[in-house]
Amino acid sequence: MPTGSDELSLIDAFVAELPHAKTPFGPGDDAAVLPRPKGQTCVTTDATVEGVHFTRPAFSLEDVGHKALAVNLSDLAAMGATPRWWLCALQVPRGFTTDDARALARGMAPLARAHGLTLVGGNVTSGPVLGLTLTLGGESPKPLLRSGARPGDVLLLTGPLGLAAAGLRALREGQTSGPEVDAQRRPLPHVESGLLARRFARAALDVSDGLLLDAWRLARASKVALALRSDWLPLGSTLEDALQGGEDYVLLLAVPARAVDRCLVAAAKAGLDWTPVGKCERGTGVFLDGRPAPPLGHLHGAP
Ligand SMILES: [Mg+2]
Repeated sequence: MPTGSDELSLIDAFVAELPHAKTPFGPGDDAAVLPRPKGQTCVTTDATVEGVHFTRPAFSLEDVGHKALAVNLSDLAAMGATPRWWLCALQVPRGFTTDDARALARGMAPLARAHGLTLVGGNVTSGPVLGLTLTLGGESPKPLLRSGARPGDVLLLTGPLGLAAAGLRALREGQTSGPEVDAQRRPLPHVESGLLARRFARAALDVSDGLLLDAWRLARASKVALALRSDWLPLGSTLEDALQGGEDYVLLLAVPARAVDRCLVAAAKAGLDWTPVGKCERGTGVFLDGRPAPPLGHLHGAP
């Protein structure tokens, strides 16, 4: 553990940068007390670890903070949940300063503000490398599940694929800026898309490990086959990056065919760029242009 006063000053510096709840809704008490939810509560947790998910200096502390919060927000988005509260457990290496804690929180603050997310508690411990484990809670009247797709549903993507994988390569090659690098360091979770999707979609998930692997997850959970069209995919990079690259954090939606036109009009009106990429059919597995497509994907590596 950091010594008592270090721990307190780290927490104070971190919390001060972020929208946080006042007593009795924490932080600062032994446990967070949450207001009664409207609808059902969706909770998600995800760890971001130095050397596994990011390296420094390829990622600044602000980048690390942003991405840790973004990937968790993406999971709430996939459930069609309105973000509400979060907890942050930090593991900090020796020499981590209050300025470092502030930088981490500064990377998180814009996303937290934009999505109405309130910090309600957390924990600090020391460890060999920097690690952040975030737990986020959101609310939805009717959470979107992976298991809801039916044969005949149309598959939609809420944004382009492959940019983040191209960014990972660019960072490994020493590039430090550009849209691909931004997509890798600062992914933007599709929260608005998730909220709109709950009016139209029967099933959803976020594409975090490459389209093919995540399409398989949806197919398996819904007990349907997914027929994808490669010439319909919104590409931010190569087709291979789109199919297997990962970390795009766009949503894959299954929308009943009769609702698709209304759904695309509503998305366009909201300034969202949604694209049909295929449909659900009877059967199992994933098909690309009519051919079976194996669940090849990318489980994230540090640049
Ligand atoms: Mg997910």
